[in-house]
Amino acid sequence: MHEGDLYQRFARSFADFAGRTAIEAADRNWTYAELESAAGRLATKLAAMGVRPGERVLVQTEKSVETVVLYLAALRLGAIYLPLNTDYTEAELAYFVGDATPVIAVCREGSQGLFRRIGGDALAITTLDDLFADLPAEAAPPAPRQRDDIAAILYTSGTTGKPKGAMLTHRNLVSNGEMLVDFWRFTSKDRLIHALPIFHVHGLFVALHCALFSGACVIFQPRFDAKAAIAAMQDASVMMGVPTFYIRLLGEDTFTRHVAARMRLFVSGSAPLSADIHRAFEDRTGHRVLERYGMTETGMLTSNPYDGERKAGFVGPPLPGVSLRIAGEDGTVLPQGEVGIVEVQGPNVFAGYWQMPEKTASEFRDGGWFITGDMGLIDANGYVQLVGREKDLIITGGLNVYPAEVEALLDDREDIAEAAVIGVPHPDFGEAVVAVVRPAGSLDADAVREAMKRDLAGFKVPKQVIAVDELPRNTMGKIQKKLLRERYAGLFAQA
Ligand code: AMP
Repeated sequence: MHEGDLYQRFARSFADFAGRTAIEAADRNWTYAELESAAGRLATKLAAMGVRPGERVLVQTEKSVETVVLYLAALRLGAIYLPLNTDYTEAELAYFVGDATPVIAVCREGSQGLFRRIGGDALAITTLDDLFADLPAEAAPPAPRQRDDIAAILYTSGTTGKPKGAMLTHRNLVSNGEMLVDFWRFTSKDRLIHALPIFHVHGLFVALHCALFSGACVIFQPRFDAKAAIAAMQDASVMMGVPTFYIRLLGEDTFTRHVAARMRLFVSGSAPLSADIHRAFEDRTGHRVLERYGMTETGMLTSNPYDGERKAGFVGPPLPGVSLRIAGEDGTVLPQGEVGIVEVQGPNVFAGYWQMPEKTASEFRDGGWFITGDMGLIDANGYVQLVGREKDLIITGGLNVYPAEVEALLDDREDIAEAAVIGVPHPDFGEAVVAVVRPAGSLDADAVREAMKRDLAGFKVPKQVIAVDELPRNTMGKIQKKLLRERYAGLFAQA
């Protein structure tokens, strides 16, 4: 295991693979040496703008290689990298700026005024174009950090309450990245299709660290486009994606066994990959998608094996170094096979929420177990199966319904493309199970309910099946159940 900070881990690759291509983008290729040189020179410029070790560098830019260089430059200076989704509104940005008190904001052209309004004069504001215009010749020296210092803050989606800034340490990121390189067998021969956003753990840490730690080449795509991904597969070895990518690939007739023949690995995560899609992908390509599970606060936690059984609908056993248990609400560890809350420990688990010591304390148990808020079980073979977020659990007439169980049955049907199962207020039952589905062709909702009665206990059968054109999803492909619950809150309201 590498003992230095995260920048030093990248520096090892800059030295070992200097002349090799690190990133292939539409406009140009970057070697490892070129990445290092650009990061060093940009660091000089950032230092002149006030960036010091421990200071926050807020970044809200389009996906670009320059943003990757900015990430490396911030780390080189020992600063804390703080990437933000480009969808955030002014009110949300005002919260992040007030909460994280960055010294600098790197934003898109046209957003400078907005950041000036919310950041005042203390905040240095710039764009990638300005930063990269006339870079100085000399490279600022790296400022090494301790392993437990913070390397990055990522705000979590915050479906309830205020967004929380998860503090990720150098140890968290280096250890998780190195472990994944080994586990997924990354080498400098790999070519990774990278179509994920780089403000989120999946695209920024999982994908980039696996590739850049191992000397591989990143095929850098600005966003996911099924045709572009298919074209890239002619000369690629790995793709990482959210389930939506795989669903969209299957929607292309030109996506065939032949197209995928040179690939060695397809990884899926950030949202559940239905067993149905897993099987359809295997039928089409012969590849079994490797599904893994993780979160912003913890990095990667479980993975289906590289060799061995990749089980559809399961996220696999805990990864090396990760301890995982299933507990009841009071923290009692539950027997194997029972559904409860996933709790984890390991060098990958974050240092807490930025400036929220009480919130942090309430999400850890004595002994250091982090309460993920995901519900699941461990099967007899040690594989974890997730059944939904704790807050998505439906309690109807006093009985628990795990949405994933009902969704799996719906997803299996020919007449349903995808389904989301939610609980909405009900005068008799407290909550009622409701299925919101995107049909594949015509749909007879009553027939769906009748069929489900054969497979499910009555209380789990949706009281209503509602057809919609599109399920609301966020950028990471997660279905936004909160929006659905709000939309259908009045469904069973008493007259
Ligand atoms: P984020 O912090 O945005 O990465 O979201 C983390 C959450 O995404 C986890 O707590 C899970 O609820 C969900 N998640 C991640 N990977 C999977 C997966 N393979 N299957 C189901 N849910 C997942």
